[in-house]
Amino acid sequence: MKDAHLVFGVLDGDDIGHEIVPASVAVASAAALRHGLRIEWRPMPIGRRALDTHGSTLPAGTLEALAKMDGFVLGPIGHREYPKVPGAINPHPIMRKHFNLFANVRPTRSYPDIGCLRDDVDLVIVRENNEGFQPDRNVVAGSGEFRPSEDMTISVRVITRLGSNRVARVALNLARNRRKLLTIVHKNTVFKLGCGMFVEECYKAAKEFPDVKVNEVIVDTMAMRLVRDPQNFDVVVTTNMFGDILTDEAAGLVGGLGMAPGLCIGDGDFAMAQATHGSAPDIAGSGRANPYAMIDSTRMLLDWLGRRRSIPQAVAAAQAMERAIVATLADPKARTADIHGTGNTSTMTAAIIAGIDTEAPR
Ligand code: ATP
Repeated sequence: MKDAHLVFGVLDGDDIGHEIVPASVAVASAAALRHGLRIEWRPMPIGRRALDTHGSTLPAGTLEALAKMDGFVLGPIGHREYPKVPGAINPHPIMRKHFNLFANVRPTRSYPDIGCLRDDVDLVIVRENNEGFQPDRNVVAGSGEFRPSEDMTISVRVITRLGSNRVARVALNLARNRRKLLTIVHKNTVFKLGCGMFVEECYKAAKEFPDVKVNEVIVDTMAMRLVRDPQNFDVVVTTNMFGDILTDEAAGLVGGLGMAPGLCIGDGDFAMAQATHGSAPDIAGSGRANPYAMIDSTRMLLDWLGRRRSIPQAVAAAQAMERAIVATLADPKARTADIHGTGNTSTMTAAIIAGIDTEAPR
């Protein structure tokens, strides 16, 4: 058996990040301990607090230090509230780019009694992460948006064969291990070249996955079908901005943003756990933050690395986390108010840890 030892960076982020990231570390540590996995957590400053202490929201040396680790947990970043000073940048697009984490894997699943609009959702949206319309990451210098005159703005959308093909492969691999259905979401009726290339590359990649059935849906129809018949989707692959919007919509179906985890991955054995939601300054410090999304993102990190590197202890720890999370979501006294509970961040975290600690040996 391989050395069951992983090293992860811990970057709280802003606002509720200071509550939900420590919760995630506590839960993953309990599961790791129980299943013979040694995790070394290395806290690193980031965001508003790092600006105050280090003069930058992404202090020098952070990327280099992270590169020597197995992955990291990144809390939500509240960049919109940053002061307009030189060191205040939005770190997460830089990190996604730097580590070439081109696929953002975002699962959506319904659980009973927590206020889901649908009780039959179990799908994963794989969003291309590093190009598309997002001007903070689709160029290496300058910005993908510019204003030639006071009355005109041009936003550039970047679609490449490489970027499309590799994200399609991530989605196809995922589908292969699930219900073997991949839906390509696009708008090639209008974006004939951009979406056209994306779709072409998805089908090209799919030739190597004959066991996966592939279909396609136009993005506006998809927005409607996510509400009407989400049970008919398994894995969905799409470009950056469509994915950004559809993943929030999917979260809305299953209890809101607190229920939307995510993992950013690339071709290597390195990943970033990052929930879909923002830093929620409106509830920061009140104990109301739902830790599910961040805890489940951390679970995904363990599960993905464990499978990729054949570390059974990491997979077992992730599975233990999942069982305890599901049990806790069924307890209204433990879960947070956004998902119809009377508990708070601490009660929910403590209940998940207790579930892990008291589970009979398997
Ligand atoms: P961003 O654009 O940075 O993703 P946003 O504008 O989508 O951020 P959020 O910070 O995600 O905004 O918050 C949107 C709403 O969802 C807020 O009312 C916030 O309180 C709520 N919310 C977000 N995350 C959670 C959570 N983990 N638990 C409970 N409520 C949350």
